[in-house]
Amino acid sequence: MKLYEYEAKQIFEKFGLTIPKQIAVIETTEELEFSTLNFPIMIKAMVLIGGRGKAGGIKKADNSDEAKQIVSEMLDLTIHGYPIDKLLLEEAVDIASEIYLSVTTDPATFDVVIVTSASGGIDIEEIARTKPEEIWKNTILDNSKVLPDSIAQEAVDFLIKKNPDLKAVDNQLKTTISSLFSVFQQVEAKVCEINPLILTKNNKIIAADAKLVLDDNSLYRQASLLQSIDIDPQSKRHDVSEQTLFEAQAYKIGFPYLDLLDNPENFIKKDDILYVGLVPGGAGYGIFSIDEVVNLGNRYFDGKVVPINFMDSGGGPPLAKVADMFHLLMDHPATDIVITSRFGGISSCDIFIQGLIMALRDRFLANKRMIPVFGRMVGTDLAAAKSFYEKAKKETLEPLRDLHITIGNKKIMADIIRDGIEYGFEIKKQMKEGGN
Ligand code: GDP
Ligand code: MN
Repeated sequence: MKLYEYEAKQIFEKFGLTIPKQIAVIETTEELEFSTLNFPIMIKAMVLIGGRGKAGGIKKADNSDEAKQIVSEMLDLTIHGYPIDKLLLEEAVDIASEIYLSVTTDPATFDVVIVTSASGGIDIEEIARTKPEEIWKNTILDNSKVLPDSIAQEAVDFLIKKNPDLKAVDNQLKTTISSLFSVFQQVEAKVCEINPLILTKNNKIIAADAKLVLDDNSLYRQASLLQSIDIDPQSKRHDVSEQTLFEAQAYKIGFPYLDLLDNPENFIKKDDILYVGLVPGGAGYGIFSIDEVVNLGNRYFDGKVVPINFMDSGGGPPLAKVADMFHLLMDHPATDIVITSRFGGISSCDIFIQGLIMALRDRFLANKRMIPVFGRMVGTDLAAAKSFYEKAKKETLEPLRDLHITIGNKKIMADIIRDGIEYGFEIKKQMKEGGN
């Protein structure tokens, strides 16, 4: 979960970091009237994406006319495609110099790393590219709850060497670094970043910006922290820039989903490749299906078969969720065929087949893209599922024409996947011939 800047700052403050005085978070120009403003103020666009400064989302106002003008303009702005719903008003601070400071997890090693630079205010990637010698980085290997004093001191010494003005605030800096490390550990963050951390003209160290990304897997342990800053722990706010359209949609509905293709929203398919969408019963089965599609593709189809997604229905998905899982893949521009499997343990085969058939009927009526489905059902409620399936097949011929479900253990999944792939290629061939 990615937090808004004002929320991240409130958490940082609880851990002893100094932040600019927050005046209000507003959503309309009218709300400006109700705020007591000590000019100059900063007006900051609250979007879950970086680089707001360059995009016109960070402005300073010296009087109320300016503030009104900026607020009304900024509320109409979009930043990298994302509309701005909220603005943070806070008292401006006088900048003498800008520092970069972060505590994150190295995605390659999962070690905790602290990074700092006396050349803050710009992207760390840009500093790394243009002046790598300006970056100090340290890997914390022992997963300490408290940052070892010697490491904080080393970081401060580096910063002072790069900018001697910081000597006057060496203790504040050391506390700041240790506090940010405590935030990282105690709120179970993935990213804690302050850019810029500001040295003011009267020698204060203040976090002028704040980025905080929490680990979704530990949110349940952080419920009281979230409530303390008015966030519903159930809310599902994400780093919008990280997810594909389909991942975001699945997350909203409530099932794990990953796209395996790059740029799936605008995917350009290759003519000779068969793209397979997967609706497995569980996570383990999801991984197996991906491997098996690749394996059979390599063995029998010249390596021309590509699985497009990972999915997990979770235990006992309700009917509507089952339908949504199929809709998602049939709306996906890459999908040629769908392979599914229901090993009913906790889950009911009956609910599964009803959800699947509902999706196909709805799509047929709405004139949406229909995609062949191959699969198998085994387990709980199989008898009811079987009679529902057979009856449905007779009653609604056309919508279920390309639904091929094996009932029971007569066939192993590998054979069903292979049948599906063969059928998919056959359809592709027919379409090509039909087109010529
Ligand atoms: P970002 O572009 O999304 O990272 O937004 P920031 O909050 O980092 O703001 C961008 C830049 O605006 C900072 O690097 C500062 O130079 C400037 N800025 C932010 N807050 C203040 C402030 O209180 N006073 C002044 N003078 N400048 C600020
Ligand atoms: Mn920033």
